[in-house]
Amino acid sequence: MNSVTVIGLGPMGQAMAHTYLDSGYDVTVWNRTAAKADDLVARGARLAPSVEAAVTANDLVVLSLTDYDAVYAILEQAPAAAFAGRTVANLTSDTPDKARKAAAWLAERGAVQITGGVQVPPPLIGKEGAETYYSGPEDAIETHRAALEVLTGIDHLGEDPGLAALFYQIGMDMFWTGLVSYLHAQAVAEANGISAERFLPNAVKTMDFRYFLEYYAPRIAAGNHEGEVERVAMGVASMEHVLHTVEASGVDGSLPATVLDLFRRAAAEGHGEDSLTRLIEVLKR
Ligand code: NDP
Repeated sequence: MNSVTVIGLGPMGQAMAHTYLDSGYDVTVWNRTAAKADDLVARGARLAPSVEAAVTANDLVVLSLTDYDAVYAILEQAPAAAFAGRTVANLTSDTPDKARKAAAWLAERGAVQITGGVQVPPPLIGKEGAETYYSGPEDAIETHRAALEVLTGIDHLGEDPGLAALFYQIGMDMFWTGLVSYLHAQAVAEANGISAERFLPNAVKTMDFRYFLEYYAPRIAAGNHEGEVERVAMGVASMEHVLHTVEASGVDGSLPATVLDLFRRAAAEGHGEDSLTRLIEVLKR
């Protein structure tokens, strides 16, 4: 029978453990707050009496915790020998550096870490189209491919254990700022009597950046920042109009003011006639 250990029973770990049970796996679980395992145990999961018992129960140990501080708080409870020969699929999100350090910490104990960054919320675990960024040794991923694919599809980015965390964080950089930009626009809409339902179709169209990303990426890669279509100077003028509209609506203008400041800095550095892609260089400094 296929078997797996899941450590961490927050919303994500719960969804993962239930999905393994749905797929007929023999599932061992451990969680700091043991009561969170009750529903899983009722469905046939085993609650390990200790971290050591959880780690040694299976070759594949899935971790789903708040951050890497929680990872160590738990794993340090087991003796080093418990990890020998295990593969730890660490699906805890944190920084690339912490992912690399944890991989080294596990390697010292004879275990291999596969770092994962889950790209879907808990209800989509086990569903078609769900995906996780993975990085780490190809052979470890191949050995456990079937078990990992019970949860989500695999996007293996490379061997560096920090890579999955890096892609996760740059994705989150876009996700949070993009999502807050929608909420900010909705605040301005509401201040002007426009409901979320009324704004929705327009918001969806505006948030579809695919055309721009596909236009910009090859130009960025080629170092081509010529402003034949749009220019930083145009961005300055446009963001001034945005900021005036926001402030006239009585809404906090700090978000557009930050963007305006960036555009102005690029213009002040002599890039007013360049494409907005020039901001990448301004930001990197
Ligand atoms: P939670 O923050 O709810 O995870 C909580 C888990 O971490 C629980 O098992 C909790 O134990 C444990 N934990 C936290 N601190 C400690 C500690 N100091 N010592 C021991 N255990 C600790 O996160 P989720 O379940 O929502 O997510 C898990 C991971 O998946 C996170 O890294 C998250 O970023 C990532 N993720 C989550 C998504 C989501 O939508 N939820 C989407 C994509 C990725 P206890 O139950 O005892 O508190």
